[in-house]
Amino acid sequence: MIKEVMDYIEKADPEVGREIWKEYERQQQNIELIASENIISAASMLAMGSVLTNKYAEGYPGKRYYGGCSVVDRIESIAIERAKKLFHCEYANVQPHSGAQANMAVMMALCSPGDKVLGMSLDAGGHLTHGSSVNFSGRYFSVSSYGINEAGFLDYDEIEETALRLRPKLIIAGASAYPRIIDFRRFREIADRCGAILWVDMAHIAGLVAAGLHPSPIPYAHVTTTTTHKTLRGPRGGLILSDKETAERFQLDKNLFPGSQGGPLEHVIAAKAICFGEAMKPEFSDYQRQILKNTRALAEALMLQGFRLVSGGTENHLMLLDLTNLPGLSGKDFQNRCDEVHITLNRNAIPNDPRPHFITSGVRIGTAAISSRGFTEAEMEPIAECLWKTAADFEKSKEEVLQTILSLSAAHPIYEG
Ligand SMILES: *Cc1c(COP(=O)(O)O)cnc(C)c1O
Repeated sequence: MIKEVMDYIEKADPEVGREIWKEYERQQQNIELIASENIISAASMLAMGSVLTNKYAEGYPGKRYYGGCSVVDRIESIAIERAKKLFHCEYANVQPHSGAQANMAVMMALCSPGDKVLGMSLDAGGHLTHGSSVNFSGRYFSVSSYGINEAGFLDYDEIEETALRLRPKLIIAGASAYPRIIDFRRFREIADRCGAILWVDMAHIAGLVAAGLHPSPIPYAHVTTTTTHKTLRGPRGGLILSDKETAERFQLDKNLFPGSQGGPLEHVIAAKAICFGEAMKPEFSDYQRQILKNTRALAEALMLQGFRLVSGGTENHLMLLDLTNLPGLSGKDFQNRCDEVHITLNRNAIPNDPRPHFITSGVRIGTAAISSRGFTEAEMEPIAECLWKTAADFEKSKEEVLQTILSLSAAHPIYEG
């Protein structure tokens, strides 16, 4: 079906259609290890190419500024009800166009410009929207950051000390590159002790949380945001979750629309509803368990090969390789070499990284996408070996690695049906 759609597009617009085919082939051939990416179901993907994209629906179900909204009202209500059921909460807003849009609305709802905010620094694994100086969150709020310790772990005592000293209005927990379980209960204790609101951004781990394989932030956070396209394996988009009282007190709906967005993407909301439905099935829990098994197996195999891991391991879907024991090899070099052998990953800073941001001394690796393709633990060993050869002995082993990678991906085709 996905191929028929691409054929149709190619006939209508060969220039764009050919490029979409090329991207399909790239995804088919490559071992995708970018921790924030996934391969979503055909149903969820096709919903985004549906007639729903034609509809304007500013407002919320039952309270729209346009006529003709009865169908999209039902679709959005299904998405809302499923999100609440999946994450065991009282309030859900399914309209954020992306994770960053969800975060912008929440920050505007919880704080006024200039308010003191404490979030995880981008260098340590936090997100741009948690107070980076190049993002609205850093420009309009007075942001202080916490990081990780030498060993690569969050130091809750230190975070508490900082919070008690600064007395921020808002504390942000959540990360884009942290391989360990986050203690949300401890974060709430810290927030309560200094009179702050706790916002958790679970963008990366939402799939694990939905499956009960990572502690849920919902009982502890005042507000939780997430993306829907990472481990949750849905369309690109955002989601805001909370309890009814907090949602009303801080006017979460209003801060999203009209506060920071216009018309909702009902085609994407339908795809989110499908994703939430999939996530309630037992197969989804099996999938999330497989992610954890694969990540652990890959981490162990990589360490046996000779790689160092930040924090010495992983408890979720991702890990950070520290390349400083490989003289002269930066994160950027390694990422480029991997591209040449059809392994896709991204460079990432490590604690106290000696190299600048754009270069770095590490890479981030996740298994959500390859687990969706059906890769299992036994296949993590050859992948680890390919990564080690690419890092330590590139020129000599390049051809051999390429062949191994191509045959591994050929064994797990995507969107065949
Ligand atoms: C990916 C991510 C986001 C942003 O998601 P976009 O959809 O790219 O805007 C926000 N927060 C965290 C922690 C993330 O990892």
